[in-house]
Amino acid sequence: MSQEKDIESRRRFLKAAAGTAVAAAMIGTLPRVARAADLPHLADSDPTAKALGYVEDASKTTDAKHKAGDACSNCQFYSGGPTGYGPCQLFPGKAVNAKGWCVSHAPKKA
Ligand code: SF4
Repeated sequence: MSQEKDIESRRRFLKAAAGTAVAAAMIGTLPRVARAADLPHLADSDPTAKALGYVEDASKTTDAKHKAGDACSNCQFYSGGPTGYGPCQLFPGKAVNAKGWCVSHAPKKA
């Protein structure tokens, strides 16, 4: 095989491999997204939630650390949508309210 044909063959192989990797990554995220909707909602009464001052409605917190506008939906640990419930890295296996808040709130990085 000439050198040019060899290079072209490698290029095709790498393109195919990259396509397969992208497809595998996309398929890998599907069950995670589907499961996020099925997570049980974190209750205010959960011991860890209480320890972190979690509330379902940020506007109802009396914690002095809460800043106006802060909510789970704009926290870097939240990976759900702008409304409803979604996963929070601090509460694995539970979904927090997008309107919720806790003392660990950290603004999403731009
Ligand atoms: S860490 Fe962020 S997303 Fe998780 S409960 Fe606290 S404020 Fe909400």
